[in-house]
Amino acid sequence: MLEIKNLHVKLEDEDKQILKGVDLSVEAGKVHAIMGPNGSGKSTLSYVLSGRDGYEVTEGEASLNGLDLLEAEPEERAAAGLFLAFQYPVEIPGVGNMTFLRTALNAQRKARGEAEISAGDFLKLVREKAKSLKIDADMLKRPVNVGFSGGEKKRNEILQMAILEPKMCILDETDSGLDVDAMRLVADGVNALRDAGRSFLVITHYQRLLDHIKPDVVHIMAGGRIIETGGPDLAMEVEKNGYADLLAKHGIAQ
Ligand code: ADP
Ligand code: MG
Ligand code: MG
Repeated sequence: MLEIKNLHVKLEDEDKQILKGVDLSVEAGKVHAIMGPNGSGKSTLSYVLSGRDGYEVTEGEASLNGLDLLEAEPEERAAAGLFLAFQYPVEIPGVGNMTFLRTALNAQRKARGEAEISAGDFLKLVREKAKSLKIDADMLKRPVNVGFSGGEKKRNEILQMAILEPKMCILDETDSGLDVDAMRLVADGVNALRDAGRSFLVITHYQRLLDHIKPDVVHIMAGGRIIETGGPDLAMEVEKNGYADLLAKHGIAQ
């Protein structure tokens, strides 16, 4: 599904290398987690995959089901089924959530060469998904994310995912600001959307999220590389012992 090989990335305006040879392969239907100390390059990896400006790939490859992500336009990435959860948390005053979701879905369909969804079919789809995720109708009518609580934003993110039905979902749960309830929401949403044809890359600073989303594979990122890969027990080990031993083992200064 997702193949990253020897990815090197530096800041565009500065002589600062952030990713120093990331190798990562996520198979269809699997949930991979990336953990790692602050500043190790986790968010940079997701930004580069999303095509955010400001970064320069100096070496390596990244592809999604054969599509070269490093060359693809944002709509091509979306059409290929890439979804980044942090992509749409922005507030868009004046644009209703429903309109936004429908626009995003139709842009994806268009890039795939499919016909637009009719207003009636979309309404049916969004109501059905909202119901199954216990999202009340009121949230669908409000402007995108405006005045949403942290939990509501998360709920909305999951709704976006449920509607767009991506193949590869990348969630960067950057901050410790995720309270227990929001964490539960994210986990329940991910678990509900787990499917043989869908993969997840869950980036998290804390092991706690992984108590609720049982990953198939856990990677530890440090110093711009994946330094260890293992099963869920690797996350437990880090929770218990911290990163110091692993960093020392790989000669990475803290
Ligand atoms: P993580 O998500 O693992 O905490 P980041 O990807 O956010 O790590 O950051 C990796 C490193 O790159 C950090 O040292 C950070 O300060 C630096 N970095 C990332 N983006 C920028 C930027 N736009 N300008 C300056 N430094 C940056
Ligand atoms: Mg950080
Ligand atoms: Mg981060």
